[in-house]
Amino acid sequence: MKVVIIGAGVAGLGIGWRLLQAGCSVTILERAQPGGGASWAAAGMLAVTAELENSPEPERALALRASALWPAFAAELEEATGRAVFLNQGGALLLAGDAAELEVMRGRAEGLRIVDSAEAKALVPLLGSSLGGLWSPREAHVDNRALTEAMTIAFLKAGGVLNPNEAAVRIETRGGRASAVLTPYGRHEADAVLIAAGAWSGLLEEVPIVPVKGEVIALSPPRGAALPGPVVWGEHVYCVPRHGRLLIGATVEEAGFDTSMTEAGRHHLRACAEKLMPPLKSWSLSDHWAGLRPKSPDGLPLLGETATAGLFVAGGQYRNGILFAPAIAGEMADLIIGKVTVDPAFDPRRFLGDLHE
Ligand SMILES: Cc1cc2nc3c(=O)[nH]c(=O)nc-3n(C[C@H](O)[C@H](O)[C@H](O)COP(=O)(O)OP(=O)(O)OC[C@H]3O[C@@H](n4cnc5c(N)ncnc54)[C@H](O)[C@@H]3O)c2cc1C
Repeated sequence: MKVVIIGAGVAGLGIGWRLLQAGCSVTILERAQPGGGASWAAAGMLAVTAELENSPEPERALALRASALWPAFAAELEEATGRAVFLNQGGALLLAGDAAELEVMRGRAEGLRIVDSAEAKALVPLLGSSLGGLWSPREAHVDNRALTEAMTIAFLKAGGVLNPNEAAVRIETRGGRASAVLTPYGRHEADAVLIAAGAWSGLLEEVPIVPVKGEVIALSPPRGAALPGPVVWGEHVYCVPRHGRLLIGATVEEAGFDTSMTEAGRHHLRACAEKLMPPLKSWSLSDHWAGLRPKSPDGLPLLGETATAGLFVAGGQYRNGILFAPAIAGEMADLIIGKVTVDPAFDPRRFLGDLHE
């Protein structure tokens, strides 16, 4: 079976790798460089508690499956490529904004631990005053940029073809079935086509995915200052320690395909982080970037065949595409080769009525 994938982010690369392992022939078309989309901009958190504890059950279940797969997935990638992906299973501290939020956290604490202000400070000495919150040892993070590099190498080593700087511009059908992808350079015949073009997926076909902009900054500590060990959530930001810097994210804004970095975004992130951890006032700004999250109308992923036979989509992972990556890789590959059927909650055809109204 010959599969053409549009987009070399974590979704396209992961599914492509699993399809190769299942014996398919796979070509990925990438309009720029692999791993340069949202998968580059992300903070790399595997935030199974912080992001997903209140999500609808199918998405929560997807997150838990993915979270369970992560250690083996990271090890398999590292073994296949000799590249580290820096999986860090150091947990996360979720601080309560007020007494009501702390109460909600108590209700969510099954298998987790409520910590008081002193315990929170012991876990993260940089913290200012706090009400305490929820300590989740389930939370982890990876270096998402190292991850897509390793995934690219794994894909190529497994025999995949990856064409960078080659944008898909049209999907051809024959007899109602997807049959080829057209680019400025040629025509790629396929038995199945997968759209994994992130926030840009909706530009290709009737896929209802919109971009949601997020800005992130990185702060560098003064000499002698230590980074927090775990990820910290509070004051409307998250703080992720990564290779000697602290990533602070992220803004959330529907602004089309704009990825400019703004003074307002930088100021907001820095002010929130300093409120959370006052010593950060003396840390220097060392980076600032923005990216586009792929969001569907109901906020749930689109994982399956579209209304066109043989045309699949893996998108709409919104804030959790890095977390979901190992589960989406295996499950979408199985779906494309016909081993499993679509999960109705993620069926891309659930929006068909809306699209044709
Ligand atoms: C600021 C920010 C922080 C985030 N933090 C986290 C986090 O901590 N944890 C987490 O799990 N998730 C996080 N996310 C979300 C996560 O990054 C995304 O859900 C995930 O990366 C989506 O992966 P993807 O492969 O679908 O898309 P992308 O990584 O965007 O890849 C899509 C690729 O398709 C290519 N493409 C587009 N159009 C075409 C075309 N016509 N032809 C060929 N190629 C095309 C693009 O160039 C791109 O390389 C964050 C996102 C942002 C923006």
